[in-house]
Amino acid sequence: MPVDAELEMRVSRIALVAHDQMKDRMIDWARTHADVLSKFELFGTGTTGGRIADEVQLQITPLKSGPLGGDAQIGAMIAEGRLDMLIFFIDPMSALPHDVDVKSLLRLATLYNTILAINEATASRVLNCVLPTD
Ligand code: PGA
Repeated sequence: MPVDAELEMRVSRIALVAHDQMKDRMIDWARTHADVLSKFELFGTGTTGGRIADEVQLQITPLKSGPLGGDAQIGAMIAEGRLDMLIFFIDPMSALPHDVDVKSLLRLATLYNTILAINEATASRVLNCVLPTD
């Protein structure tokens, strides 16, 4: 498949996750991209998803909070073919109690070749390359 065709992939379900120190940036990013994001079915870990719903007014299905299993839920969605893309603003400066869940999620996204962005620059570019399914 030509590279350009791959870049025009159609996706339907996108998960949004941000670690605590990255949540404000995720909110700003989601606000900037709200029009595009609104075309997809959105999922988020509990706190991230709740803030996006409240502060950006996007429709998003909140899962459990990350440290309470939300990352694992998103990993399960990937393993079961129920998620097309993951935007995950990782905090590179803090140790996390659920580091094993984070690693597992990144491993599953890699294993299943899920579209994955772990920083803002990549997320913006990738979001502009995908199209919603009809
Ligand atoms: P949260 O989870 O959105 O519930 O804070 C994110 C995470 O820490 O993985």
